[in-house]
Amino acid sequence: MKSFVYWNKVCRFWFGWSFILFLIMGLTSIPSLAVAKKLKVVTTVAPLTNLVKNVGGSRIDLHGIIPEGTDSHTFEPRPSDISYIAAADLIILNGLHLETPTEKLIEANGKPGVVVLKLGDNTITEKEWIFDFSFPKEQGDPNPHLWLNVPYAMRYVELIRDKLIALDPENKDFFAKNAEVYLEKLKQLDKEIEAAVQTIPPQNRKLLTYHDSWAYFARRYGMTVIGAIQPASFSEPSPQEVARLIDQIKKEKVPAIFGSEVFPSKVLEQIGREAGVKYIDTLRDDDLPGPVGSPEHTYIGMMIEDVRTMVTSLGGGPKGLEKIDPADLNN
Ligand SMILES: [Zn+2]
Repeated sequence: MKSFVYWNKVCRFWFGWSFILFLIMGLTSIPSLAVAKKLKVVTTVAPLTNLVKNVGGSRIDLHGIIPEGTDSHTFEPRPSDISYIAAADLIILNGLHLETPTEKLIEANGKPGVVVLKLGDNTITEKEWIFDFSFPKEQGDPNPHLWLNVPYAMRYVELIRDKLIALDPENKDFFAKNAEVYLEKLKQLDKEIEAAVQTIPPQNRKLLTYHDSWAYFARRYGMTVIGAIQPASFSEPSPQEVARLIDQIKKEKVPAIFGSEVFPSKVLEQIGREAGVKYIDTLRDDDLPGPVGSPEHTYIGMMIEDVRTMVTSLGGGPKGLEKIDPADLNN
């Protein structure tokens, strides 16, 4: 009897304490349940990160791994990128072979069930791939710069929206609304770029650029890419190649040639001087203009600045572009 009372007390003591402990554990876990877990999204180049930012806004946890001003074609992820890749629920790539080293890293370190979305591969078919100067067919890697063609960027936005909704259906309306507003802005951008290119005298609608990133842009807006200076190895061209380009520029009578922010090139300067044409080295395809946080530091800001530079140097006047607000959606 005595031992029964004793054990009864012990049991009540432990039951009481474990109940309190259980209650404390329960209470502390409630806030983490109340704050919905944000989808962890990893992207690569800055323009794509910016498209994702406009759709996902504050309801995703977004990290772009390729630093701006870095050559995305030869980019190798750093050890510090592995932790982002390993934690990601969704990894959004351009695809079309642009991010091969990153893809290898995802295979080795991605968590089970991570979703990888390749925008370019879901935007055009292999038949629509462009192989050209720096992306020759023999090497098998198509020109990957689809995002400089605004309707393709709009398709990217739709793909981003659909994938975010599939993985986070609770925020369906939020993502859908953002995409709708942003797509409307891109539609306006597309229209104004088209109009701006039309102001260039037809014989001047030619692009000779250092970095070969304008193939799909040219296809959309009626320009001809007559050459790219950068060889497929992303090194500098040979003296024979330089001489050939100078002859070509003289023959085609283009008023200007274009270099890239990310690839400063002495050769471009030499070619411009010897061919007697202006050379402008501020085009960019994966590096956003202006300081981080400024209104023009966006995909739209990049497109406006590039087209303004191109059109004014080739003899046109891109007035309508100035009507577009480059700033991100406030979401
Ligand atoms: Zn590029």
